[in-house]
Amino acid sequence: MKLEGLSICGYNRVKPSGTPTQAINPATAAQLEPGYFWATPEDVSQAAQLAARAFLEYRRWSPTRRADLLSRIAGLIEASASALVERAHQETALPPARLQSEIARTCGQLRLFASLLQEGWWLDARIDHGNPERKPLPKPDVRSMLVPLGPVAVFSSSNFPFAFSVAGGDTASALAAGCPVIVKPHQGHLGASEMVGIIVQQAAGECNAPDGVFSLLFGPGRDVGMALVKHPLIKAVGFTGSRAGGRALMDAAAARPEPIPVYAEMGSINPVFLLPGALQQRAAALATGLHASVTLGVGQFCTNPGLVFIEPEPANRIFLQSLESLMAATPPGTMLTQSIHSEYTAGVEKFSRTPGVRCVTTPPADGIQGGAQARTALFVTDAETFLSHHTLMDEVFGPSTLVVQCGSRSQMLVAAQELEGQLTATVHGTPEDFATNAELLAILETKVGRLVCNGFPTGVEVCHAMTHGGPYPATADGRSTSVGTRAIQRFVRPLCYQNAPDAVLPDELKESNPLGIWRLVDGNVERGACSVERGT
Ligand code: NAP
Repeated sequence: MKLEGLSICGYNRVKPSGTPTQAINPATAAQLEPGYFWATPEDVSQAAQLAARAFLEYRRWSPTRRADLLSRIAGLIEASASALVERAHQETALPPARLQSEIARTCGQLRLFASLLQEGWWLDARIDHGNPERKPLPKPDVRSMLVPLGPVAVFSSSNFPFAFSVAGGDTASALAAGCPVIVKPHQGHLGASEMVGIIVQQAAGECNAPDGVFSLLFGPGRDVGMALVKHPLIKAVGFTGSRAGGRALMDAAAARPEPIPVYAEMGSINPVFLLPGALQQRAAALATGLHASVTLGVGQFCTNPGLVFIEPEPANRIFLQSLESLMAATPPGTMLTQSIHSEYTAGVEKFSRTPGVRCVTTPPADGIQGGAQARTALFVTDAETFLSHHTLMDEVFGPSTLVVQCGSRSQMLVAAQELEGQLTATVHGTPEDFATNAELLAILETKVGRLVCNGFPTGVEVCHAMTHGGPYPATADGRSTSVGTRAIQRFVRPLCYQNAPDAVLPDELKESNPLGIWRLVDGNVERGACSVERGT
Protein backbone atom coordinates (compact mmCIF):
# COMPACT_ATOMS: atom_id res chain seq x y z
CA MET A 1 0.00 0.00 0.00
CA LYS A 2 1.56 3.31 -1.09
CA LEU A 3 1.51 6.06 1.52
CA GLU A 4 1.10 9.60 0.19
CA GLY A 5 0.85 11.68 3.37
CA LEU A 6 -2.42 13.24 2.19
CA SER A 7 -5.80 13.50 3.84
CA ILE A 8 -8.77 11.62 2.43
CA CYS A 9 -11.90 13.57 1.55
CA GLY A 10 -14.61 11.16 0.42
CA TYR A 11 -13.28 9.40 -2.69
CA ASN A 12 -10.50 11.96 -3.27
CA ARG A 13 -7.11 12.74 -1.78
CA VAL A 14 -6.59 16.28 -0.57
CA LYS A 15 -3.94 18.38 -2.35
CA PRO A 16 -0.71 19.00 -0.39
CA SER A 17 -0.48 22.35 1.38
CA GLY A 18 2.10 23.78 3.80
CA THR A 19 5.13 21.97 5.20
CA PRO A 20 4.90 18.21 5.77
CA THR A 21 5.37 16.59 9.20
CA GLN A 22 6.91 13.16 9.61
CA ALA A 23 5.88 10.39 11.95
CA ILE A 24 8.46 9.52 14.63
CA ASN A 25 9.65 6.11 15.76
CA PRO A 26 9.49 6.48 19.58
CA ALA A 27 12.08 3.76 20.13
CA THR A 28 14.76 5.44 18.01
CA ALA A 29 13.45 8.99 17.50
CA ALA A 30 13.97 8.38 13.74
CA GLN A 31 11.69 10.15 11.30
CA LEU A 32 9.52 7.94 9.12
CA GLU A 33 8.51 8.54 5.50
CA PRO A 34 6.40 10.05 4.05
CA GLY A 35 5.81 13.59 5.26
CA TYR A 36 2.18 14.36 6.19
CA PHE A 37 0.38 17.47 4.98
CA TRP A 38 -2.20 19.00 7.29
CA ALA A 39 -5.73 19.61 6.06
CA THR A 40 -6.84 23.23 5.61
CA PRO A 41 -10.06 24.89 6.86
CA GLU A 42 -11.41 24.52 3.29
CA ASP A 43 -10.72 20.76 3.43
CA VAL A 44 -12.64 20.53 6.72
CA SER A 45 -15.56 22.34 5.15
CA GLN A 46 -15.46 20.18 2.03
CA ALA A 47 -15.41 16.94 4.05
CA ALA A 48 -18.30 18.14 6.26
CA GLN A 49 -20.40 19.14 3.25
CA LEU A 50 -19.77 15.82 1.52
CA ALA A 51 -20.64 13.98 4.73
CA ALA A 52 -23.89 15.92 5.14
CA ARG A 53 -24.85 15.11 1.55
CA ALA A 54 -23.86 11.45 1.96
CA PHE A 55 -25.99 11.27 5.11
CA LEU A 56 -29.18 11.88 3.15
CA GLU A 57 -28.62 8.60 1.28
CA TYR A 58 -26.66 6.60 3.84
CA ARG A 59 -29.22 7.04 6.63
CA ARG A 60 -31.73 5.20 4.45
CA TRP A 61 -29.47 2.23 3.70
CA SER A 62 -30.93 -1.10 4.77
CA PRO A 63 -29.29 -2.79 7.78
CA THR A 64 -27.93 -5.42 5.41
CA ARG A 65 -26.09 -2.84 3.28
CA ARG A 66 -24.55 -1.16 6.31
CA ALA A 67 -23.55 -4.55 7.71
CA ASP A 68 -21.92 -5.39 4.38
CA LEU A 69 -19.84 -2.18 4.54
CA LEU A 70 -18.61 -2.99 8.07
CA SER A 71 -17.79 -6.60 7.16
CA ARG A 72 -15.95 -5.48 4.05
CA ILE A 73 -13.78 -3.06 6.06
CA ALA A 74 -12.95 -5.95 8.42
CA GLY A 75 -12.04 -8.25 5.54
CA LEU A 76 -9.75 -5.67 3.92
CA ILE A 77 -8.03 -4.90 7.24
CA GLU A 78 -7.34 -8.62 7.72
CA ALA A 79 -5.95 -8.86 4.21
CA SER A 80 -3.43 -6.09 5.00
CA ALA A 81 -2.73 -7.14 8.59
CA SER A 82 1.00 -7.77 8.26
CA ALA A 83 1.70 -4.39 6.59
CA LEU A 84 -0.47 -2.64 9.18
CA VAL A 85 1.33 -4.32 12.06
CA GLU A 86 4.74 -3.47 10.62
CA ARG A 87 3.95 0.22 10.22
CA ALA A 88 2.16 0.57 13.58
CA HIS A 89 5.08 -1.15 15.31
CA GLN A 90 7.48 1.43 13.86
CA GLU A 91 5.23 4.30 14.90
CA THR A 92 4.16 3.18 18.39
CA ALA A 93 6.78 0.66 19.59
CA LEU A 94 3.88 -1.63 20.53
CA PRO A 95 4.94 -5.27 20.10
CA PRO A 96 3.80 -6.97 16.86
CA ALA A 97 1.90 -9.68 18.78
CA ARG A 98 -0.12 -7.06 20.64
CA LEU A 99 -0.84 -5.20 17.38
CA GLN A 100 -1.88 -8.42 15.69
CA SER A 101 -4.39 -9.13 18.44
CA GLU A 102 -5.60 -5.55 18.30
CA ILE A 103 -6.33 -6.02 14.60
CA ALA A 104 -8.34 -9.14 15.45
CA ARG A 105 -10.26 -7.12 18.04
CA THR A 106 -10.90 -4.30 15.55
CA CYS A 107 -12.29 -6.71 12.95
CA GLY A 108 -14.31 -8.48 15.66
CA GLN A 109 -15.87 -5.15 16.67
CA LEU A 110 -16.79 -4.32 13.08
CA ARG A 111 -18.41 -7.73 12.65
CA LEU A 112 -20.22 -7.50 15.98
CA PHE A 113 -21.90 -4.28 14.83
CA ALA A 114 -22.66 -5.92 11.47
CA SER A 115 -24.48 -8.74 13.26
CA LEU A 116 -26.29 -6.27 15.53
CA LEU A 117 -27.62 -4.47 12.47
CA GLN A 118 -29.16 -7.69 11.15
CA GLU A 119 -30.96 -8.24 14.46
CA GLY A 120 -32.74 -4.91 14.66
CA TRP A 121 -33.80 -5.03 18.33
CA TRP A 122 -31.34 -2.25 19.16
CA LEU A 123 -33.52 0.20 17.19
CA ASP A 124 -36.03 0.10 20.06
CA ALA A 125 -38.98 0.08 17.62
CA ARG A 126 -42.25 0.79 19.47
CA ILE A 127 -45.78 0.82 18.18
CA ASP A 128 -48.86 1.99 20.06
CA HIS A 129 -51.89 1.54 17.84
CA GLY A 130 -54.43 4.34 17.80
CA ASN A 131 -58.06 4.09 18.83
CA PRO A 132 -60.41 6.60 17.16
CA GLU A 133 -63.25 5.45 19.44
CA ARG A 134 -61.49 6.33 22.66
CA LYS A 135 -63.40 8.78 24.85
CA PRO A 136 -63.18 11.60 25.65
CA LEU A 137 -60.42 11.97 23.01
CA PRO A 138 -59.36 9.61 20.22
CA LYS A 139 -56.00 7.92 20.80
CA PRO A 140 -53.46 8.67 18.03
CA ASP A 141 -51.34 5.96 16.38
CA VAL A 142 -47.81 6.54 17.75
CA ARG A 143 -44.65 4.77 16.59
CA SER A 144 -41.00 5.45 17.28
CA MET A 145 -37.51 4.14 16.67
CA LEU A 146 -33.91 5.29 16.88
CA VAL A 147 -32.53 7.15 13.86
CA PRO A 148 -28.96 8.36 13.09
CA LEU A 149 -27.83 11.84 14.17
CA GLY A 150 -25.76 12.88 11.13
CA PRO A 151 -22.03 13.28 10.41
CA VAL A 152 -19.79 12.33 13.34
CA ALA A 153 -16.23 13.59 14.02
CA VAL A 154 -14.02 10.87 15.51
CA PHE A 155 -10.74 11.61 17.32
CA SER A 156 -8.45 8.57 17.25
CA SER A 157 -6.66 7.47 20.39
CA SER A 158 -2.90 7.30 20.82
CA ASN A 159 -2.79 3.98 22.65
CA PHE A 160 -4.90 1.79 20.35
CA PRO A 161 -3.72 2.47 16.79
CA PHE A 162 -6.44 0.19 15.43
CA ALA A 163 -9.19 -0.66 17.92
CA PHE A 164 -9.81 2.97 19.01
CA SER A 165 -8.63 4.66 15.83
CA VAL A 166 -9.59 5.11 12.18
CA ALA A 167 -11.83 2.01 11.89
CA GLY A 168 -12.12 1.48 15.63
CA GLY A 169 -15.10 1.34 17.93
CA ASP A 170 -16.29 4.94 17.45
CA THR A 171 -16.18 4.68 13.66
CA ALA A 172 -17.78 1.21 13.65
CA SER A 173 -20.64 2.28 15.91
CA ALA A 174 -21.26 5.55 14.02
CA LEU A 175 -21.26 3.85 10.60
CA ALA A 176 -23.52 1.11 12.01
CA ALA A 177 -25.91 3.77 13.30
CA GLY A 178 -26.12 5.30 9.80
CA CYS A 179 -23.81 8.28 10.37
CA PRO A 180 -20.99 9.32 8.00
CA VAL A 181 -17.64 9.67 9.79
CA ILE A 182 -14.79 12.15 9.54
CA VAL A 183 -11.70 10.96 11.44
CA LYS A 184 -9.08 13.23 12.97
CA PRO A 185 -6.21 10.71 13.27
CA HIS A 186 -3.74 10.73 16.15
CA GLN A 187 -0.31 12.12 15.27
CA GLY A 188 1.31 9.19 17.05
CA HIS A 189 0.52 6.81 14.17
CA LEU A 190 0.04 8.79 10.99
CA GLY A 191 1.08 6.02 8.59
CA ALA A 192 -1.11 3.31 10.14
CA SER A 193 -4.00 5.80 10.09
CA GLU A 194 -3.52 6.52 6.41
CA MET A 195 -3.38 2.80 5.63
CA VAL A 196 -6.64 2.08 7.43
CA GLY A 197 -8.17 5.20 5.85
CA ILE A 198 -7.34 3.88 2.38
CA ILE A 199 -8.95 0.57 3.34
CA VAL A 200 -12.19 2.21 4.53
CA GLN A 201 -12.28 4.34 1.39
CA GLN A 202 -11.85 1.21 -0.76
CA ALA A 203 -14.59 -0.67 1.15
CA ALA A 204 -16.95 2.29 0.73
CA GLY A 205 -16.29 2.27 -3.02
CA GLU A 206 -16.88 -1.48 -3.30
CA CYS A 207 -20.22 -1.03 -1.50
CA ASN A 208 -21.25 1.93 -3.70
CA ALA A 209 -21.47 4.15 -0.64
CA PRO A 210 -22.21 7.83 -1.27
CA ASP A 211 -19.15 10.06 -1.64
CA GLY A 212 -18.28 11.47 1.80
CA VAL A 213 -19.51 8.63 3.98
CA PHE A 214 -15.92 8.55 5.23
CA SER A 215 -13.10 11.12 5.35
CA LEU A 216 -9.80 11.32 7.20
CA LEU A 217 -8.21 14.71 7.87
CA PHE A 218 -4.64 14.97 9.14
CA GLY A 219 -3.68 17.92 11.30
CA PRO A 220 -3.35 19.29 14.83
CA GLY A 221 -6.28 18.84 17.21
CA ARG A 222 -6.48 22.52 18.01
CA ASP A 223 -6.85 23.42 14.31
CA VAL A 224 -8.32 20.63 12.23
CA GLY A 225 -10.00 18.86 15.19
CA MET A 226 -11.52 22.02 16.62
CA ALA A 227 -12.70 23.17 13.18
CA LEU A 228 -14.53 19.86 12.80
CA VAL A 229 -16.19 20.10 16.22
CA LYS A 230 -17.32 23.65 15.49
CA HIS A 231 -18.56 22.91 11.98
CA PRO A 232 -22.34 23.30 11.82
CA LEU A 233 -22.78 20.14 9.71
CA ILE A 234 -21.11 17.91 12.34
CA LYS A 235 -23.73 16.46 14.69
CA ALA A 236 -21.72 14.46 17.27
CA VAL A 237 -18.14 13.76 18.40
CA GLY A 238 -16.33 10.62 19.60
CA PHE A 239 -12.99 11.05 21.41
CA THR A 240 -10.45 9.02 23.41
CA GLY A 241 -7.57 10.76 25.16
CA SER A 242 -6.73 13.17 27.94
CA ARG A 243 -9.16 14.99 30.20
CA ALA A 244 -7.80 18.35 29.00
CA GLY A 245 -8.37 17.44 25.35
CA GLY A 246 -11.80 15.93 25.94
CA ARG A 247 -12.91 18.86 28.06
CA ALA A 248 -11.78 21.37 25.41
CA LEU A 249 -13.96 19.59 22.86
CA MET A 250 -16.92 19.38 25.26
CA ASP A 251 -16.72 23.11 25.93
CA ALA A 252 -16.40 23.96 22.23
CA ALA A 253 -19.37 21.74 21.35
CA ALA A 254 -21.50 23.27 24.11
CA ALA A 255 -20.64 26.82 22.96
CA ARG A 256 -21.79 26.23 19.37
CA PRO A 257 -24.98 28.00 18.26
CA GLU A 258 -26.31 24.43 17.96
CA PRO A 259 -24.66 22.43 20.76
CA ILE A 260 -23.88 18.80 19.92
CA PRO A 261 -23.05 15.76 22.07
CA VAL A 262 -19.40 14.90 22.68
CA TYR A 263 -18.67 11.34 23.79
CA ALA A 264 -15.21 11.73 25.28
CA GLU A 265 -13.53 8.82 27.04
CA MET A 266 -10.91 10.48 29.21
CA GLY A 267 -8.66 9.67 32.11
CA SER A 268 -9.37 7.15 34.86
CA ILE A 269 -7.28 5.77 37.72
CA ASN A 270 -9.35 2.63 38.22
CA PRO A 271 -9.12 2.07 41.99
CA VAL A 272 -8.54 -1.44 43.32
CA PHE A 273 -9.74 -2.42 46.82
CA LEU A 274 -8.00 -5.37 48.46
CA LEU A 275 -10.24 -6.56 51.31
CA PRO A 276 -8.76 -8.27 54.39
CA GLY A 277 -9.89 -11.85 53.68
CA ALA A 278 -8.49 -11.76 50.15
CA LEU A 279 -5.21 -10.30 51.37
CA GLN A 280 -4.86 -13.02 54.01
CA GLN A 281 -5.63 -15.78 51.50
CA ARG A 282 -3.52 -14.65 48.53
CA ALA A 283 -1.33 -11.59 49.20
CA ALA A 284 1.49 -12.66 46.86
CA ALA A 285 -0.89 -13.68 44.06
CA LEU A 286 -2.64 -10.31 44.33
CA ALA A 287 0.72 -8.55 43.97
CA THR A 288 1.53 -10.63 40.88
CA GLY A 289 -1.85 -9.92 39.27
CA LEU A 290 -1.71 -6.23 40.06
CA HIS A 291 1.84 -5.88 38.76
CA ALA A 292 0.86 -7.54 35.46
CA SER A 293 -2.10 -5.18 35.10
CA VAL A 294 -0.15 -2.01 36.01
CA THR A 295 2.72 -2.75 33.62
CA LEU A 296 0.74 -4.20 30.69
CA GLY A 297 1.57 -2.22 27.54
CA VAL A 298 3.93 0.03 29.56
CA GLY A 299 0.88 1.06 31.58
CA GLN A 300 -0.70 2.88 28.64
CA PHE A 301 -4.27 1.75 29.12
CA CYS A 302 -7.22 3.82 30.26
CA THR A 303 -8.12 0.91 32.54
CA ASN A 304 -4.68 0.84 34.15
CA PRO A 305 -5.06 0.41 37.95
CA GLY A 306 -3.39 3.57 39.27
CA LEU A 307 -4.70 3.40 42.84
CA VAL A 308 -4.87 0.56 45.38
CA PHE A 309 -6.53 0.63 48.80
CA ILE A 310 -5.58 -1.80 51.57
CA GLU A 311 -6.55 -2.12 55.23
CA PRO A 312 -4.02 -2.63 58.03
CA GLU A 313 -3.54 -6.42 57.97
CA PRO A 314 -0.47 -8.57 58.67
CA ALA A 315 -0.69 -9.81 55.07
CA ASN A 316 -0.12 -6.24 53.81
CA ARG A 317 3.60 -6.64 54.32
CA ILE A 318 3.76 -9.69 52.05
CA PHE A 319 1.65 -7.90 49.45
CA LEU A 320 3.76 -4.73 49.48
CA GLN A 321 7.09 -6.56 49.50
CA SER A 322 6.03 -8.77 46.57
CA LEU A 323 4.69 -5.82 44.59
CA GLU A 324 7.79 -3.75 45.26
CA SER A 325 10.18 -6.45 44.07
CA LEU A 326 8.10 -7.16 40.96
CA MET A 327 7.88 -3.47 40.04
CA ALA A 328 11.59 -2.89 40.69
CA ALA A 329 12.53 -5.87 38.51
CA THR A 330 10.47 -4.71 35.53
CA PRO A 331 12.67 -3.49 32.67
CA PRO A 332 11.95 -0.04 31.19
CA GLY A 333 9.55 0.04 28.25
CA THR A 334 9.20 2.41 25.30
CA MET A 335 6.16 4.66 25.49
CA LEU A 336 3.94 5.58 22.56
CA THR A 337 5.16 9.12 22.01
CA GLN A 338 7.72 11.52 23.39
CA SER A 339 4.98 13.75 24.78
CA ILE A 340 3.22 10.89 26.60
CA HIS A 341 6.63 9.99 28.05
CA SER A 342 7.23 13.58 29.20
CA GLU A 343 3.78 13.70 30.84
CA TYR A 344 4.46 10.39 32.58
CA THR A 345 7.78 11.66 33.93
CA ALA A 346 6.13 14.88 35.13
CA GLY A 347 3.33 12.93 36.82
CA VAL A 348 5.77 10.67 38.64
CA GLU A 349 7.81 13.68 39.77
CA LYS A 350 4.67 15.36 41.08
CA PHE A 351 3.75 12.29 43.18
CA SER A 352 7.36 11.95 44.39
CA ARG A 353 7.35 15.56 45.62
CA THR A 354 4.06 15.19 47.55
CA PRO A 355 4.76 15.20 51.31
CA GLY A 356 3.75 11.89 52.89
CA VAL A 357 4.11 9.89 49.64
CA ARG A 358 7.03 7.41 49.38
CA CYS A 359 8.36 6.27 46.00
CA VAL A 360 9.59 2.74 46.69
CA THR A 361 11.03 2.06 43.23
CA THR A 362 13.95 3.64 41.37
CA PRO A 363 13.11 7.09 39.98
CA PRO A 364 11.84 6.58 36.40
CA ALA A 365 14.57 8.57 34.64
CA ASP A 366 17.49 6.80 36.38
CA GLY A 367 19.85 5.02 34.01
CA ILE A 368 17.75 5.73 30.92
CA GLN A 369 19.49 7.33 27.95
CA GLY A 370 17.09 9.38 25.83
CA GLY A 371 14.18 7.94 23.84
CA ALA A 372 10.70 7.50 25.24
CA GLN A 373 11.71 4.78 27.73
CA ALA A 374 9.86 4.64 31.04
CA ARG A 375 10.50 2.80 34.31
CA THR A 376 7.78 1.56 36.62
CA ALA A 377 6.89 3.64 39.67
CA LEU A 378 5.32 2.38 42.91
CA PHE A 379 4.14 4.89 45.51
CA VAL A 380 2.88 4.23 49.03
CA THR A 381 0.97 6.62 51.25
CA ASP A 382 -1.68 6.70 53.98
CA ALA A 383 -5.34 7.64 53.73
CA GLU A 384 -4.91 11.03 55.46
CA THR A 385 -2.31 12.10 52.90
CA PHE A 386 -4.43 10.79 50.04
CA LEU A 387 -7.50 12.62 51.27
CA SER A 388 -5.66 15.91 51.78
CA HIS A 389 -3.99 16.00 48.32
CA HIS A 390 -6.54 16.00 45.53
CA THR A 391 -3.73 15.85 42.93
CA LEU A 392 -3.06 12.25 44.01
CA MET A 393 -6.26 11.43 42.09
CA ASP A 394 -4.70 12.66 38.82
CA GLU A 395 -4.05 10.06 36.17
CA VAL A 396 -0.36 9.21 35.71
CA PHE A 397 -0.61 7.56 32.30
CA GLY A 398 2.05 4.84 32.38
CA PRO A 399 3.38 1.97 34.53
CA SER A 400 2.74 3.62 37.90
CA THR A 401 0.46 2.94 40.83
CA LEU A 402 -0.21 4.41 44.28
CA VAL A 403 -0.98 2.15 47.27
CA VAL A 404 -3.04 3.85 49.98
CA GLN A 405 -2.91 2.24 53.42
CA CYS A 406 -6.19 2.87 55.22
CA GLY A 407 -6.30 2.79 59.01
CA SER A 408 -9.74 1.19 59.11
CA ARG A 409 -12.68 0.09 57.01
CA SER A 410 -14.45 3.38 57.66
CA GLN A 411 -11.44 5.30 56.35
CA MET A 412 -11.57 3.17 53.20
CA LEU A 413 -15.23 4.14 52.81
CA VAL A 414 -14.40 7.84 53.16
CA ALA A 415 -11.69 7.50 50.50
CA ALA A 416 -14.09 5.64 48.18
CA GLN A 417 -16.67 8.37 48.65
CA GLU A 418 -14.10 11.01 47.65
CA LEU A 419 -13.28 9.36 44.34
CA GLU A 420 -14.18 11.04 41.07
CA GLY A 421 -16.05 9.17 38.34
CA GLN A 422 -14.08 6.18 37.03
CA LEU A 423 -14.21 3.74 34.16
CA THR A 424 -13.76 0.86 36.60
CA ALA A 425 -13.34 -0.11 40.23
CA THR A 426 -12.05 -3.51 41.32
CA VAL A 427 -12.72 -5.34 44.57
CA HIS A 428 -10.82 -8.42 45.71
CA GLY A 429 -12.57 -10.29 48.50
CA THR A 430 -13.76 -13.58 49.92
CA PRO A 431 -17.53 -14.23 50.17
CA GLU A 432 -17.29 -12.96 53.77
CA ASP A 433 -15.49 -9.80 52.61
CA PHE A 434 -18.24 -9.07 50.11
CA ALA A 435 -20.93 -9.67 52.73
CA THR A 436 -19.33 -7.29 55.23
CA ASN A 437 -18.47 -4.59 52.66
CA ALA A 438 -21.85 -4.01 51.07
CA GLU A 439 -21.55 -0.29 51.78
CA LEU A 440 -18.27 -0.07 49.86
CA LEU A 441 -19.82 -1.83 46.87
CA ALA A 442 -22.84 0.50 47.03
CA ILE A 443 -20.56 3.57 46.97
CA LEU A 444 -18.54 2.17 44.07
CA GLU A 445 -21.70 1.51 42.05
CA THR A 446 -22.29 5.28 42.03
CA LYS A 447 -18.74 6.03 40.87
CA VAL A 448 -17.97 3.66 38.00
CA GLY A 449 -19.07 2.19 34.69
CA ARG A 450 -17.74 -1.32 35.44
CA LEU A 451 -17.25 -3.09 38.77
CA VAL A 452 -14.69 -5.89 38.59
CA CYS A 453 -14.74 -8.63 41.26
CA ASN A 454 -11.61 -10.69 41.95
CA GLY A 455 -9.95 -9.75 38.68
CA PHE A 456 -8.09 -6.81 37.15
CA PRO A 457 -9.49 -3.96 35.07
CA THR A 458 -7.19 -4.09 32.03
CA GLY A 459 -8.54 -6.12 29.11
CA VAL A 460 -11.96 -4.88 28.03
CA GLU A 461 -14.14 -7.63 26.56
CA VAL A 462 -15.97 -6.52 23.41
CA CYS A 463 -19.52 -7.83 23.84
CA HIS A 464 -23.14 -6.75 24.09
CA ALA A 465 -23.11 -6.22 27.87
CA MET A 466 -19.82 -4.31 28.19
CA THR A 467 -19.75 -0.78 29.61
CA HIS A 468 -16.56 1.10 28.93
CA GLY A 469 -17.71 4.42 30.28
CA GLY A 470 -18.46 5.96 33.62
CA PRO A 471 -19.48 9.18 35.34
CA TYR A 472 -17.57 12.41 34.55
CA PRO A 473 -14.61 12.91 34.41
CA ALA A 474 -14.02 9.33 33.24
CA THR A 475 -16.25 10.20 30.29
CA ALA A 476 -18.15 13.22 29.09
CA ASP A 477 -21.45 11.41 29.50
CA GLY A 478 -21.79 8.56 31.97
CA ARG A 479 -24.87 7.24 30.17
CA SER A 480 -22.72 5.90 27.35
CA THR A 481 -20.07 3.33 26.52
CA SER A 482 -17.38 3.35 23.83
CA VAL A 483 -16.99 -0.45 23.78
CA GLY A 484 -19.71 -3.02 23.11
CA THR A 485 -22.85 -2.80 21.03
CA ARG A 486 -24.52 -0.24 23.31
CA ALA A 487 -21.98 2.25 21.85
CA ILE A 488 -24.30 2.62 18.85
CA GLN A 489 -26.78 4.51 21.03
CA ARG A 490 -24.41 7.49 21.19
CA PHE A 491 -25.10 8.32 17.57
CA VAL A 492 -28.88 7.96 17.36
CA ARG A 493 -31.96 9.77 18.62
CA PRO A 494 -35.60 8.69 18.91
CA LEU A 495 -37.93 9.77 16.10
CA CYS A 496 -41.67 9.43 16.56
CA TYR A 497 -44.33 9.18 13.83
CA GLN A 498 -47.90 10.10 14.72
CA ASN A 499 -50.81 8.87 12.55
CA ALA A 500 -48.37 8.25 9.65
CA PRO A 501 -49.70 6.02 6.85
CA ASP A 502 -47.77 2.78 6.22
CA ALA A 503 -46.29 4.21 3.01
CA VAL A 504 -44.59 6.97 5.02
CA LEU A 505 -43.24 4.69 7.75
CA PRO A 506 -39.77 3.08 7.59
CA ASP A 507 -39.81 -0.72 7.23
CA GLU A 508 -38.97 -1.10 10.92
CA LEU A 509 -42.33 0.42 11.91
CA LYS A 510 -44.62 -0.94 9.19
CA GLU A 511 -47.59 -3.11 10.18
CA SER A 512 -46.25 -6.13 8.30
CA ASN A 513 -42.81 -5.94 10.00
CA PRO A 514 -41.00 -6.85 6.75
CA LEU A 515 -37.59 -6.99 8.50
CA GLY A 516 -38.91 -9.40 11.15
CA ILE A 517 -37.34 -7.42 14.02
CA TRP A 518 -38.30 -7.46 17.69
CA ARG A 519 -40.67 -4.59 18.53
CA LEU A 520 -42.72 -3.37 21.47
CA VAL A 521 -46.27 -3.48 20.10
CA ASP A 522 -49.01 -2.16 22.37
CA GLY A 523 -46.81 -3.02 25.35
CA ASN A 524 -45.88 -6.56 24.20
CA VAL A 525 -42.46 -7.58 22.87
CA GLU A 526 -43.02 -9.45 19.59
CA ARG A 527 -41.39 -10.22 16.30
CA GLY A 528 -44.25 -10.89 13.87
CA ALA A 529 -46.57 -8.68 11.85
CA CYS A 530 -49.05 -6.58 13.79
CA SER A 531 -52.22 -8.56 14.42
CA VAL A 532 -54.67 -5.71 14.90
CA GLU A 533 -56.35 -3.46 12.39
CA ARG A 534 -54.78 0.00 12.04
CA GLY A 535 -56.85 2.58 13.87
CA THR A 536 -56.09 5.34 11.39
P1 NAP B 1 -4.60 13.97 23.98
O1 NAP B 1 -3.50 14.91 24.18
O2 NAP B 1 -5.87 14.27 24.66
O3 NAP B 1 -4.86 13.88 22.39
C1 NAP B 1 -5.90 13.09 21.86
C2 NAP B 1 -6.42 13.75 20.60
O4 NAP B 1 -7.11 14.94 20.94
C3 NAP B 1 -5.33 14.14 19.64
O5 NAP B 1 -5.77 13.92 18.33
C4 NAP B 1 -5.14 15.61 19.90
O6 NAP B 1 -4.71 16.29 18.74
C5 NAP B 1 -6.54 16.05 20.26
N1 NAP B 1 -6.55 17.18 21.20
C6 NAP B 1 -5.90 17.25 22.38
N2 NAP B 1 -6.14 18.44 22.97
C7 NAP B 1 -6.96 19.12 22.13
C8 NAP B 1 -7.55 20.40 22.17
N3 NAP B 1 -7.36 21.24 23.19
N4 NAP B 1 -8.33 20.78 21.14
C9 NAP B 1 -8.55 19.95 20.11
N5 NAP B 1 -8.01 18.72 20.02
C10 NAP B 1 -7.22 18.31 21.00
O7 NAP B 1 -4.21 12.51 24.37
P2 NAP B 1 -2.92 11.62 23.97
O8 NAP B 1 -2.10 12.28 22.94
O9 NAP B 1 -3.43 10.30 23.63
O10 NAP B 1 -2.11 11.46 25.29
C11 NAP B 1 -1.87 12.50 26.18
C12 NAP B 1 -2.38 12.11 27.54
O11 NAP B 1 -3.74 11.70 27.47
C13 NAP B 1 -1.68 10.93 28.17
O12 NAP B 1 -0.49 11.26 28.77
C14 NAP B 1 -2.73 10.43 29.12
O13 NAP B 1 -2.69 11.15 30.31
C15 NAP B 1 -4.01 10.71 28.43
N6 NAP B 1 -4.63 9.52 27.77
C16 NAP B 1 -5.67 8.93 28.37
C17 NAP B 1 -6.28 7.87 27.78
C18 NAP B 1 -7.44 7.26 28.43
O14 NAP B 1 -8.19 6.56 27.77
N7 NAP B 1 -7.64 7.46 29.69
C19 NAP B 1 -5.86 7.36 26.56
C20 NAP B 1 -4.79 7.99 25.95
C21 NAP B 1 -4.20 9.07 26.57
P3 NAP B 1 -3.16 16.63 18.42
O15 NAP B 1 -2.32 15.69 19.17
O16 NAP B 1 -3.09 16.49 16.97
O17 NAP B 1 -2.99 18.02 18.85
